[in-house]
Amino acid sequence: MTALDITHDPKRTSWVASANVAGCDFPIQNLPFGTYSRAPRPHPRIGVAIGDKILDLRMAKLIDTDDMNVLMAATPEERRALRLRISEGLASGSALQAAWESALVDHSAVTMHVPCHVGDYTDFYTSVHHATNIGRQFRPDNPLLPNYKWVPIGYHGRASSIIVSGTPVKRPQGQTKAPDAAEPSFGPCKRLDYELELAWFIGQGNALGAPVGIDAAEQHLFGVALFNDWSARDIQAWEYQPLGPFLSKNFGSTVSPWIVTMEALAPFRAPFTRPEGDPQPLPYLDSADNRAQGHVDMTLEVLIQTAKMRADGQAPARLTLGKLKDAAYWTPAQLVAHHTVNGCNLQAGDLLGSGTLSGPTMDAAGSFTELSVGGKQPFTLPNGEQRTFLQDGDTLILRGWCEREGAVRIGLGEASGTVVA
Ligand code: MN
Repeated sequence: MTALDITHDPKRTSWVASANVAGCDFPIQNLPFGTYSRAPRPHPRIGVAIGDKILDLRMAKLIDTDDMNVLMAATPEERRALRLRISEGLASGSALQAAWESALVDHSAVTMHVPCHVGDYTDFYTSVHHATNIGRQFRPDNPLLPNYKWVPIGYHGRASSIIVSGTPVKRPQGQTKAPDAAEPSFGPCKRLDYELELAWFIGQGNALGAPVGIDAAEQHLFGVALFNDWSARDIQAWEYQPLGPFLSKNFGSTVSPWIVTMEALAPFRAPFTRPEGDPQPLPYLDSADNRAQGHVDMTLEVLIQTAKMRADGQAPARLTLGKLKDAAYWTPAQLVAHHTVNGCNLQAGDLLGSGTLSGPTMDAAGSFTELSVGGKQPFTLPNGEQRTFLQDGDTLILRGWCEREGAVRIGLGEASGTVVA
């Protein structure tokens, strides 16, 4: 895993003043990658977020491509070298300040895009608490299936409908069948839900037939963003057997625009442990390094702003707040090792969804179906409004950040989307 270096030095500040403000998501220790465009040019370019600005990497003469997937496919050594050059150039006192000031763009003046071309998207199911909560709704006596603690469960999702934060989400239509109805009916989804997830992005790929061992797994990970896997629970309940979710999931998945790199996460790594009495991972999912620091200490927050809250000038209200390492039963390295163990080839830009990241308690649940116990117990918002599922006009916002004593806090920005009829 990535060692700490000068780019993580908490004493380092930037000549971009907004990056030095306490609580900023994008201090000089972060340097996440994204793609943006600015009128009148519609063509996306690669930038790095620094405070409330974006450093255009081509204008700063750091790269000669606009293709994020090319940058993601670089070797870890090349990536670390690029990060070092960006950090040195943006650091207070850098001789490059005069040259790079003209390569800065106001974040507020641009359109952000899905950060890379996502060729393939896999969604995992890494929260044992989410799996148990959902399982209990379907099988009260036997919520967790016997394979759960051995196999990182996942399915292949659809990449074409991944959308960037801020894109409206159209309520899907589909077939549903109420438990007491004789036949299904067709119409708009009545149980539209969100899923609090992370998107782990693949950097360097692997050849077909060449599994990635767990100790090399992080060399193939580029970084992480926030991910909302919008879900139509009523469509899902009727369609999911026997082959799993289909149209209940592929009408839109929102990703945040900035990929926070594995290098930026280095100060926030945490041990991976199994609860007492749970099986240890099979050898191909286990290593000393993964046990020592396979997890990431990250805080995740979900907020909602209803149409009424917006009209009344009220800020978004928190639904839940939790810790990634309390939610995820598998580490990102284990997901890569498992995904490739059969020889499956991953490619730069592939997206591995974490699955809904619910913590052990309901104040850290990652979906409305958990907060409302399958729609049975309405969830009351601070202004008195109630929700079992999302209504038209609701804006759902995911946020995430890492903080630790002795390190500068970094954030993932946000993934937001508003439901429209
Ligand atoms: Mn999901």
